[in-house]
This record gives sequence, structure tokens and C-alpha cells, in this order.
Amino acid sequence: MHIPVGFEGSGPDRIIWGETSNGCFSVKSAYLALIKEENYDAFPWYFIWKLPIPPKLKTFMWMLCQGRILTNVERVKRRLASDPSCPICHEHPETLIHMLRDCPSAKNVWNGVVCLDTIARSMQLDWYDWLAANTHCNRPCFDGLKWCGVFVYTCWYIWKWRNMAVFNGNFYPLSISSKIILDAANDWKIANIGSVASRRTSTIFLSWSKPPDHYFKLNVDGARGPNGLIGAGGVLRDHSGTWISGFSASLGNGTVLQAEAWGLLLGLQLASKNRCQHLIVECDSEVLVNLINNGVNDLHPLRSVLCSCQFLRGQFLSCDIRHVYREINLVADLLSKDGVGADLGVHFMEQPPPQVINALLDDLCASPRSRTVICDF
Ligand SMILES: [Zn+2]
Repeated sequence: MHIPVGFEGSGPDRIIWGETSNGCFSVKSAYLALIKEENYDAFPWYFIWKLPIPPKLKTFMWMLCQGRILTNVERVKRRLASDPSCPICHEHPETLIHMLRDCPSAKNVWNGVVCLDTIARSMQLDWYDWLAANTHCNRPCFDGLKWCGVFVYTCWYIWKWRNMAVFNGNFYPLSISSKIILDAANDWKIANIGSVASRRTSTIFLSWSKPPDHYFKLNVDGARGPNGLIGAGGVLRDHSGTWISGFSASLGNGTVLQAEAWGLLLGLQLASKNRCQHLIVECDSEVLVNLINNGVNDLHPLRSVLCSCQFLRGQFLSCDIRHVYREINLVADLLSKDGVGADLGVHFMEQPPPQVINALLDDLCASPRSRTVICDF
């Protein structure tokens, strides 16, 4: 295990709960940590909450997948009823799969909506495979509706109509059932497209700017690769925009915030080594800038790194740490990405490496870079 030693100002060692982002213990995080340790598969139905369906249908689907919808078979098991048979066809026990798929009344509804071959074949699968195959099917069917959404709507209506038939004596609306289902799914789709379309966007132009006379500017950034490896990078420039020094670091495995925090610490060390007195720091992590400027919780997992940053910051005559958009921080962004997956350690650069020259020249000329922003009207 590789534990970096503390730096000046990082404070005494302390025990911190590492399973939450704020360092505070919670039962939920302990449970998740235990599951991780035991190597259990994550519960496979979380994707339900991301399906393109209304919240009440998500809740219905969630209960269905957990086996919480009471059928006669379940009610007999719990001594709430004595007859497990299907109250519609009276031929089979009323299980979940019978109620939603195999009962002749349900089959009639499915016949009106199933339009994909793969889905027709899934009618032979057992309960959980059938649920999984259909709820994971994103293929478009009627008018671009996704099948997974139509599937859940159909299950919902079959269940609802069955309850009406059993408890209120109403009959199934067989002839128009598919129309009711598809209209409901379509209405939901249209209502949601409307809410996305109403968010207007506009383009703004941003550019890096030189610091005032006697000031230095430090741009820092962190990056994380798909394999969990993190890197950090930074560049120190003077009032004329000239490269003073830069670095790229490979930090092993970690989170994006860890990468950003180490980028800031290494950058401040670099500025201190170069005897800068007045420093402006730009960083595109708003979370990190807030932590540094507004104080760090005693139990924060990154407390020692952040306290070292604050200590170093106090060594300059002035040191302003600001949040900027990524478009302004491009050179540091490129250097931090270089660090991801490189040999462990920090690589300092007295001259700019070739891959950042173009971005440096753009910064020097204050060339604008575009950014799309969402406007609230
Ligand atoms: Zn039946």
C-alpha cells in the first residue's frame, strides 16, 4: 500500500471514515462497504429508476421485481386467502408470471402490443429472465417509443385492469387495450420532450487572460481515466504569459477530486519554489475551490492535502484561488491527462511539451473558445 507522507500544515494523523465523501459515518455506506467486501453482485434492478416512464410506474416495476405485488399464491402463503387459483381464468395458480403474461386475459393484451420478434420469443422465458429481457430492450417500436417503456406500461395496465375486474367486477377493455397503452406511453414521451426542448442553450466565448504586472498565474487540473487511474497537471506563467514551469503527475488510483486536490498542492509547491509572491490560481473544479475558500470539514477524507494547500497559500503575499471553466484551463487539462497512466510520480517541465504548444499560443493571443450554456428563462 502506498500512503503519501504528510506535508507541512497537513495536521496530525486522525481516523477518518473513508466510505463517504464527507468523512462522516453512515449506516448506508457501511452496508455498501460490506457488500463490496463480500463481493456480492450489486442488486440488479437499480436501472429501473432510469427507465423512460413516470415515477408511479417505476415504483410499480420496483415492487414487481422484488416480488412485492400480492397474487393469490402469495396471499395463501401468508394465510390471507385459501384459494391460490387465478380469479379470471380459474385454470392456473395466480403467480406473478401467470397474472402478467400467461393468463389468457393478459395474452390478449400482449398480442396487441408485441411487435418485435425478440420480444415475442421472450414469452418462453422464466419470470426474472422475461422481466430482464424486456426492461433492457431499448429498441424503438411504435412511433419511436422504446420497448422497455411500452413493456412496463403494458404490465401496469394488465395489473390495473385485473384489479378492476376482480374487485369491482369491471371487464377488460380488450378491443382498445393496445390503443390505451400506446396513447399513455406516447403522452408521457411528448410531455418529456417538451420539458427538454424548453431549456434553451446559448454559446458563450471564453479566453485565458494574462495576470497583471508582478503577478503569476497558476492553472491546475486533475483527470481520471476509465480504469480509475488519476493524473494531475499544472502550468505557471508570468504577467507576459510566458511559461515559467509546468508539471504532469501520475497518482495511481483515486477519485477526480483527489486528482484536482493534488494538482492544486503540486502547483502551489511549484509556485513557491519559483519564489512567486503574488499568485492567481485558476482551477475548473468548483467543489475544490469552495473547499479551499470556505474551509474543510474536520473529517473530510482529503483534509490533510487541503490543509497543506491552505498552509502553502498562506506563504504568498497574495494568493487568489478562483474557479474557471474548462475552456480557460485547457493547458492544465492537457497536462493532467498526460499524467493518467504514465509512470508514477511527478514530472516537472522547464519547457512546454509539444502537445500543449497550440493551446499555449491560443492563450497568449486570448483566442476565444466556445462553451454551450443552458439559459433559464
Ligand atoms: Zn388466469
